[in-house]
Amino acid sequence: MSRACHDLVVVGAGSAGVAAALSASRSGLRVLLIEAGRGLGGTAVHGGVNCWEPGAGGTGIPFELYRRMRRQVAAVGIYSFGRHLAWQGADEPVAYPGGEQVIDPARCYLDTLQRHGSANLSLAEALVFRRQHWHGVLYEPAACAAAMADLLAQTGRCQVVLGTAVTDVDRVGRRVTAVALAGGLRVRAPLFIDSTADLQLAVACGCQTVLGQEGRAAFGEPDAPTMPNGRLNGASLLYRVTPTDHPAVEPLPPGVPDACWWASDFPVAAVNHYPNGDLGVNMLPTMDGREAFDLGPRPAYEECARRVYAHWHYRQVHFAEYRAYRMLALAPVLGVRESRRLVGRYVLTQHDLMAGLSDQRHVDLVAIADHALDTHGGGTRPGGPGELAAPYGVPFSCLLPREVDNLMVACRGASFTSLAASSCRLARTMMQLGQAAGTAAALALGHRLDPADVPPALLQDRLRAQHVSLEWPMPAALRARLADETG
Ligand SMILES: Cc1cc2nc3c(=O)[nH]c(=O)nc-3n(C[C@H](O)[C@H](O)[C@H](O)COP(=O)(O)OP(=O)(O)OC[C@H]3O[C@@H](n4cnc5c(N)ncnc54)[C@H](O)[C@@H]3O)c2cc1C
Repeated sequence: MSRACHDLVVVGAGSAGVAAALSASRSGLRVLLIEAGRGLGGTAVHGGVNCWEPGAGGTGIPFELYRRMRRQVAAVGIYSFGRHLAWQGADEPVAYPGGEQVIDPARCYLDTLQRHGSANLSLAEALVFRRQHWHGVLYEPAACAAAMADLLAQTGRCQVVLGTAVTDVDRVGRRVTAVALAGGLRVRAPLFIDSTADLQLAVACGCQTVLGQEGRAAFGEPDAPTMPNGRLNGASLLYRVTPTDHPAVEPLPPGVPDACWWASDFPVAAVNHYPNGDLGVNMLPTMDGREAFDLGPRPAYEECARRVYAHWHYRQVHFAEYRAYRMLALAPVLGVRESRRLVGRYVLTQHDLMAGLSDQRHVDLVAIADHALDTHGGGTRPGGPGELAAPYGVPFSCLLPREVDNLMVACRGASFTSLAASSCRLARTMMQLGQAAGTAAALALGHRLDPADVPPALLQDRLRAQHVSLEWPMPAALRARLADETG
C-alpha cells in the first residue's frame, strides 16, 4: 500500500463506508477503503442483517446495489409480510412467534420505499396499511458483498484493504493528518471518513461522543427518559436455517439449558425467507444492548451463541414447522444496533422526526428516512409504537464533528440522539449518509474547502444528479427510473 497517494481515507466498509468510498471515487477522488473484517458490507452482510426494511430513503446507491444483485441468480427478492404476531389474521389459528417476511414476486423495488403512513390509523386500519405498503428487500449476503466489490472496482480509483484495523489517528490542531493501521503503517490523506459504526476515528481524535439515552432535559424530546441512562438498543445474533429431508428437533449443545435464562420467555423473532428457501432468524433481541457493550465483542458473541441454540431448540420443540429445517450457520458478527454516537455540529432529535420534511428548517438535508422509533427491548413510546406520519430529513451537519475540520462521520454512530438513532440507523439510510459524505469529500477537495464549508445547495444538487431523492413524494422522473429494475 502506498503511503500518501490517497485523496480520501474511508475507515469501515459497512453500508455507509462502501457508499462513501463509491461516491467519492466516482466523483474523481483516489480513495482508500480500510476494513477490519474479512469482507465488504459490515452488519448488512456479516451480521446476517440481509434485509432492507421499507423506507423512504432507498434511492441512489441502494437502488444500484439492488440492480446489481438482481443480475445474480436467486440473490435478491422483494418481500411482503406473512404471518405476524401483532397482526394475526382470522385464518391464522396459532399465534406466530414474531413476524415473517416472505418473497413476493408481485412486488418491485418502488414498493419498498415507504414505511410512514400508519401512525394515526386504528389498529385494524394499520394492519391493512402495513400489509399493503410495507415491503422490503431480502438478499444473499455473498451477492451483496460481490455487488459492492463490483461497483467499487468499476470506478478504478478505490483501493480496498480488508482484514486491517485502524488503531489510532494522528491529529494536529483541528486536522487529522494520518491513520495508523494495525502493524504500524501510517496512511496520510487530506480527508477522512469514519464509517466504523462505533466511532473509532472520532474517539481517537477526542471528539465528543455519547453512550446511552439522553435525558429529557438535553433536547426536550417527549419520549426521552426523565434522566439520562446508559441504555442501548438491543443486540441480536442472527442465524440461518435450511430445509432438511430429515425433520427432527436438533439436540442442544452441551451446557445449553432448554429454558430461557436471560428473559421471562424466549424472544419473538423476525424471520426472513431467503430467495433459496432458507430462513434467517432475527431474535428481537438476543441481548440487552448495554450488556453486550459492557461484555465486549467476543464474550457477548459467545453468550449470544448459547442463546441462539436455546432459541432454535425452543422453536423446534414448540412449532412443528421448524423441524423441517436444520441449523445452517450463525452470523459471523454480532448485530449491534447502537453504541457510541457523535455529538456533532447538529444533533438529530425526535423533534426532527416528528416535524417531518415540511416543518424541518435545515438547509442542508442530505438523506431522508421514515422508519419508526424502534428500540428493541426498550419500549420507546409508552403511548404508541413510534410510527411516523411523514418522512424526515437528516442534515449534513450531523456528519460533522465539532472538534475536527477534515473528518466526517458517516455511519450509525453519526450525530443523532438515541431516539433519533433508533429510527435512522437502517442500512439504506446509512448508504445515503455515506453517499453524501463521499460526494461532499469530492466537492471539498475540488473547491479547496473543508466539508463544513461546502455549499449545501451544491451538495444537494450533486446528490440529486446521482438520483438521490431528498423530497417526498419523489420526483416523477426518479420514480420512472426506479421502475426500471434491470439496469
Ligand atoms: C440485529 C440488527 C437487525 C437490523 N435489521 C435491519 C433491517 O431489517 N433493515 C435495515 O435496513 N437495517 C437493519 N438494521 C440496521 C442496519 O443493519 C445497521 O444499522 C447498518 O447496517 C449499519 O451500517 P454502518 O455502515 O453504520 O455500520 P456497519 O455495517 O456495522 O459497518 C462498520 C464497519 O466498520 C468496520 N470497522 C470497525 N472498526 C474498524 C476499525 N478500527 N478499522 C477498520 N474497520 C473497522 C467493521 O468491521 C464494519 O465492517 C439492523 C441492525 C441490527 C444490528
